Amino acid sequence: MKIIENAENLSQIRGGALVPTMGALHQGHASLIRAGAASGRPVLVSIFVNPTQFGPNEDFARYPRTLDADLKIAEAAGASAVFIPTADSIYPSGLANAVTNAAQFSLPAIATAPLLEDAIRPTHFGGVCLVVSRLFDLCEPSLAFFGEKDFQQLRVITQMVEENSIRWKSLKIIPCATIREADGLAMSSRNQYLNPSQRISALGISRALQSAANCSSATAAEKSMRETLDQHGLETQYAVIRSEKTLCATEVGAKSARALIAAKLGDIRLIDNARVGITSMNR
Ligand code: AMP
Repeated sequence: MKIIENAENLSQIRGGALVPTMGALHQGHASLIRAGAASGRPVLVSIFVNPTQFGPNEDFARYPRTLDADLKIAEAAGASAVFIPTADSIYPSGLANAVTNAAQFSLPAIATAPLLEDAIRPTHFGGVCLVVSRLFDLCEPSLAFFGEKDFQQLRVITQMVEENSIRWKSLKIIPCATIREADGLAMSSRNQYLNPSQRISALGISRALQSAANCSSATAAEKSMRETLDQHGLETQYAVIRSEKTLCATEVGAKSARALIAAKLGDIRLIDNARVGITSMNR
């Protein structure tokens, strides 16, 4: 497995399968890398903790950085190369300009209309779209793999690529299922922040999603999710049923509804989601 620090050396691996990450790799990331390898293309994993997608009071400084372990996981999962850029190579005109560019990024509607992550982290998708578009331009992949774990992010990037089909004409975004711990907790680099009692409480999120799956109306599902989160001592930011396509409350049909949750335990913020078979949007 090659380690690429200088963007000039990316030419060796153009047209491959790109897996963008912020490191602190776990089996969720490994599943994306394996899916990339199964495509038959060389897999390039990028590791970059992107400052522009963190808000001023978020966890950029303490975000886990575990490069040695990451390299082992990437190699075992079948990566051909790992790209570890410096902030200067991603943002050559400096971080202050990058923050401005992120704020001015022309975002697809799904990054602003749903009032989910976009409402709670207003600068987040500008930073995500800026860094991902920079990685697409530098790496020129033919496939890029993203997890459903960050469902709004997956939809934002998919829509960004659809709306820029001339710039990234042969690029396809491949969604990958969420990988969970045996007890149901969605794997996340941020799970490392949980203490043992918070780790138990965090199970309320996957249980809330399961409770939604047993409801037939959106109203009942949203009530059930909130109650389950409350019972586990989680502070609900949102627990909603939305259309998978638009992430808005309208147009939800039986085959395309998704339950989405953001909840906090102290200052640790966790998100998760699942497809649900809601047959009535009664509210
Ligand atoms: P991150 O390093 O957290 O920015 O995530 C990098 C990629 O891995 C994103 O496309 C995430 O959606 C994906 N990812 C993170 N956690 C999981 C998981 N538990 N299952 C599947 N994909 C995941």
